[in-house]
Amino acid sequence: MQSLRFNALDSLASSPAEVNVSGVSKITGIFNENVFTLKVARQFLSDEAYKSLAASIKSGKKIDRSMGGQIANGVKAWAESKGVTHFTHWFQPLTGLSAEKHDSFFTLKGDGTPIEEFDGGALIQQEPDASSFPSGGLRATFEARGYTAWDPSSPAFIMEIGQGKTLCIPTIFVSYTGESLDAKTPLLKALVAIEKAAVDVCQYFDKNITRVTPTLGWEQEYFVIDAGLANARPDLVLTGRTVFGHAPAKGQQLEDHYFGTIPERVYAFMRDFESESYKLGIPLRTRHNEVAPAQFECAPIFEEVNIAVDHNLLLMDIMTRVAKRHNLKVLLHEKPFAGINGSGKHNNWSMATDTGVNLLAPGKTPKTNLMFLTFFVNTIKALHDYADIVRASIASAGNDHRLGANEAPPAIISAFIGKYLTQVLEQVETRVGGKFDEQDEAMLKLDIHKSIPELMLDNTDRNRTSPFAFTGNKFEFRAVGSAANCATNMTVINTIVAETLKTFKKDVDALIDKGEKKEVAIMQIIQKYVVESKKVLFEGDGYSEAWANEAEKRGLQNVKTTPLALDAYVTEKAKKLFANNDIYSHSELEARHEIMLEDYIKKVQIEARIMGELATTFIFPSAVKYQNILINNVKGLKDAGLKEPAYANQVQLLEAISNHISILGDSVEKMIEERKVANELTDTRAKAIAYCEKVKGQYFDVIRYHVDKLELIVDDAHWLLPKYREMLFLR
Ligand code: ADP
Ligand code: MG
Repeated sequence: MQSLRFNALDSLASSPAEVNVSGVSKITGIFNENVFTLKVARQFLSDEAYKSLAASIKSGKKIDRSMGGQIANGVKAWAESKGVTHFTHWFQPLTGLSAEKHDSFFTLKGDGTPIEEFDGGALIQQEPDASSFPSGGLRATFEARGYTAWDPSSPAFIMEIGQGKTLCIPTIFVSYTGESLDAKTPLLKALVAIEKAAVDVCQYFDKNITRVTPTLGWEQEYFVIDAGLANARPDLVLTGRTVFGHAPAKGQQLEDHYFGTIPERVYAFMRDFESESYKLGIPLRTRHNEVAPAQFECAPIFEEVNIAVDHNLLLMDIMTRVAKRHNLKVLLHEKPFAGINGSGKHNNWSMATDTGVNLLAPGKTPKTNLMFLTFFVNTIKALHDYADIVRASIASAGNDHRLGANEAPPAIISAFIGKYLTQVLEQVETRVGGKFDEQDEAMLKLDIHKSIPELMLDNTDRNRTSPFAFTGNKFEFRAVGSAANCATNMTVINTIVAETLKTFKKDVDALIDKGEKKEVAIMQIIQKYVVESKKVLFEGDGYSEAWANEAEKRGLQNVKTTPLALDAYVTEKAKKLFANNDIYSHSELEARHEIMLEDYIKKVQIEARIMGELATTFIFPSAVKYQNILINNVKGLKDAGLKEPAYANQVQLLEAISNHISILGDSVEKMIEERKVANELTDTRAKAIAYCEKVKGQYFDVIRYHVDKLELIVDDAHWLLPKYREMLFLR
């Protein structure tokens, strides 16, 4: 019987270069086709229902219950006009994925008459059995009920899978006692907090500002490989990464992949998933090859954070599904392949006012420049004060392979702001006497706008090694994991900036109350914040050893593993921060911490198991088969009367294989023992640390080393796992 590897290689050789994709001549023709936008709502709802929906979208308030029935009818009429038979509440439980449970519109009346129905109740609230979702002990299994509630700020959409079409209602997911069980609820709360705090601060500068909306433009990196080859790798199938695999002779050293021509099969796949995305209103804008072979990236036009988060989650789902049509597999894991770049998700973040101002864009007048400087410095201060929580917000088993490793941002949180703004902050800091007063009016007339945008927006003053880089009119947080739900990190960023802005307002008001002029008071507090937070600024090479040393001197944390990074979520500081801003209660925070630790444990556990299984049932048999061939060969040569030098090579190989096999077998056994010890631990944190430091830390690299050595020795015809050079380079 031929192995899956060779079957996949055979069909790869005979498969067409690309699957036919129905072309789209104009994106605007299909954009939002499957979204219940306000424009569609206008068509399908009564005036009254439309006004109610529009008002609740604008205010972020719950939908008026009395209108629920009417709106549901309109949504159903629209969905049916598009051939939809089922609906689902679409939510984001703490599995990292989206969840859905489909119900049909179809039902039977009391007398047995079949009808299609979608009432207001079904639109607004549902009660999925929540017992099988992670709750971190918030909900005992006997109290399994949770409920999903419609979040009208994210529009309903129709998900098409093959011929099936389902109406999806974006919802939040909470326990019956009101604790959040999803990624969305705390995010929405954080957005409320930052809006309030930012609007309050904006009043210093412009009384017309009544709303501030945080914005997010994510960049999604991913790998694409042949599905047949992926399916022949149980590690990829189960964990999303290759636990074994020798580096290919050619990797990314020729630097020939970045922005290179997109391979045809992948290009067809991109066009296909882009079309599906456009229909769902995901405003994709860019596509290109990334640095590593078989690595790509796409990015949309930025949107409100809430919508952008949904769109990113939807995109990951769409990509995964559409890839199947092309017999391809999308790998969203942070580090699918050792030795070559991993994948991140860059979160570009800013805040926009309802007067049309980007608060992180340098202004055109001294007054707007001061407003820019205020939000800019407050963001840096927030990063400085809460770097540990920011670090925790991107911690995951997958991201551990990236952060602190060679080809990715370090686990040290710092910000890059560019030469010009560094100078500006230096000037602010070193004012004579260290204090601003009336004589400093000139200083307030910062000409920031003249130099920054050109410099930074045209990419000349960029630092790609910084986790948090200011890029002219937004901060780009580059350390987020490629598989992560953006919501987790966005909840933290928006909360910490909200908290900092609140404190800023208090500090400035206190000076004004003492009789200080407004601008001078603002400038003095800005100066104070610059001094207090400057150690988080770093302009050099974030990937270098020197920075790790320098950061340590500065007292910046460098927490490289998830179990320890997550501690930051449950400190007194974190509890106060999240409670102050009404994001998480203490018990919700403890629960989240528990869920994230458990997620980590399970992921490492699955990797450990598949490593053991592959080593024993894939690697060992192949190695032994090849050994037997060598043994027979040596025997034959001896029988034929040949002397030592004739089979010296074979003997050497036999020895090498024996050596690798024996260390391998021994390490696998010890790793299993270590797992047993870890599994006995009842404290979740201790267990996560044991999995991290003992199971993974002591054995993963050793086991891998010997398997990868064997890969280079054993007869290729006997090797069962597709190799890196096949997965990364064959099309
Ligand atoms: P790159 O960083 O790769 O050079 P761009 O700077 O053009 O690319 O943009 C990257 C992402 O940042 C895009 O998704 C873009 O829409 C987003 N972006 C641009 N301006 C903002 C903003 N004010 N707020 C949030 N995201 C933004
Ligand atoms: Mg970018």
